[in-house]
Amino acid sequence: MPPEPDLTPEERERLSALLADEAVRAVFAALEEDNARIVGGAVRNAILGEPVADIDFATTLPPEEAMKRLRAAGFSVHPVGIEHGSIIAAADGRAFEVTTLRRDVKTDGRHAIVAFTTDWAEDAQRRDFTMNALYLDATGRLHDHVRGLADARARRLRFIGDAARRIREDYLRILRFFRFWAHYGQERPDAATLATIRAESEGLRRISKERIRQEVTRLLVAPRAVEALRLMDETGVLALTFPADCAHDFTALESMAAHDAALALEPDWFLRLVAFCGPRESLRDAFRLTREEMKRLRFLVDAKPPKDEKGWQHLVYRHGKALARDLARLAAARDGWGNDTLRGALAHIDNFNPPRFLLTGGDAVALGVPPGPAVGAALRTAEERFIENGFSPADREGQLALLRAVIAGTATSSPRSRP
Ligand code: ATP
Ligand code: MG
Repeated sequence: MPPEPDLTPEERERLSALLADEAVRAVFAALEEDNARIVGGAVRNAILGEPVADIDFATTLPPEEAMKRLRAAGFSVHPVGIEHGSIIAAADGRAFEVTTLRRDVKTDGRHAIVAFTTDWAEDAQRRDFTMNALYLDATGRLHDHVRGLADARARRLRFIGDAARRIREDYLRILRFFRFWAHYGQERPDAATLATIRAESEGLRRISKERIRQEVTRLLVAPRAVEALRLMDETGVLALTFPADCAHDFTALESMAAHDAALALEPDWFLRLVAFCGPRESLRDAFRLTREEMKRLRFLVDAKPPKDEKGWQHLVYRHGKALARDLARLAAARDGWGNDTLRGALAHIDNFNPPRFLLTGGDAVALGVPPGPAVGAALRTAEERFIENGFSPADREGQLALLRAVIAGTATSSPRSRP
């Protein structure tokens, strides 16, 4: 066993906090303390002082045995990746991935045939980056088999072992490299690693678009997203993962990131992607966009940012606040708005709660309009007047009066041509 590394009081405290979690204690208890350790992102982020999201466990127990014990302890257990030794244990709205220690016997550039082991050092060797191979046991002891602690402290992302070999085992690691660097990196990655990535980049063709989407969406919201994309560009990775007609608009992306920071906006991978590439149809296939995302994209293709408060209100009335905010944020990034301009547009959007136009065809018919196209025409005209009036009157009675006036007007005057 390697000696326990010296930890700073802050590091120790953050690691202890992981163990104070009752659900975590329950997993340790179910598997028995000696058989399990926390590993991966949770330990890494505790050392880095970054927020911890998921907590992953490694265990010496074979998957079937781990499942049996977790079930007996009251967890619901899902064999999500059991052929690789991974299961999910869930209880009280919490879920933990529990993976049996393993080594990769055979790899094909993405998938591995694995053999289970009880050797912690061997399990560490099969992981991707040194900072991802830190283990925390139930007593609070940190186990560092690959000198990951020093790298984590320096925010240095380093492949475990020979980078070229590790990439050839699983080309997804190229994207994981940029994603983790974008989140946790500091200095420019070393030249040799970048050269290796460049040399191996063609292998990315084997990676499914779903996995590319998963990595890119997470990368785009990271603090160093812009620099990471520049590095991906330099190494030829961008050309292999982004559509050919992507605009590569680093300026717009930088501008969006600056706005997000200045206005405390939640980074939005979708908007960042559209800022960087332009609202291209090709994004659909490249990033497996969902129906909902395509709706956002198509709106952004056609929409022009309005010039004034009234214009934003119209947009909110017609399309809702979410799409209006998308347009404001994207236009701000692409047209280089200052923070105050964007803040102003977002305030116009947020402060406006449009009254609804409440009338239906039945109302027009009740007022004597013959069923048929005239009903829709009368309603549309009444709604236009309502909008021109500054979304007034808001109440049904008032709107009926408006409709009555419209009907009276069309009965006496010749029909106006509509734009
Ligand atoms: P986060 O959950 O914050 O994205 P993580 O480090 O926990 O980060 P996961 O994808 O949850 O990442 O994987 C857990 C751990 O499993 C990693 O830290 C790493 O040790 C190992 N791992 C995951 N994917 C790979 C891979 N493709 N190659 C090698 N090791 C991997
Ligand atoms: Mg994780």
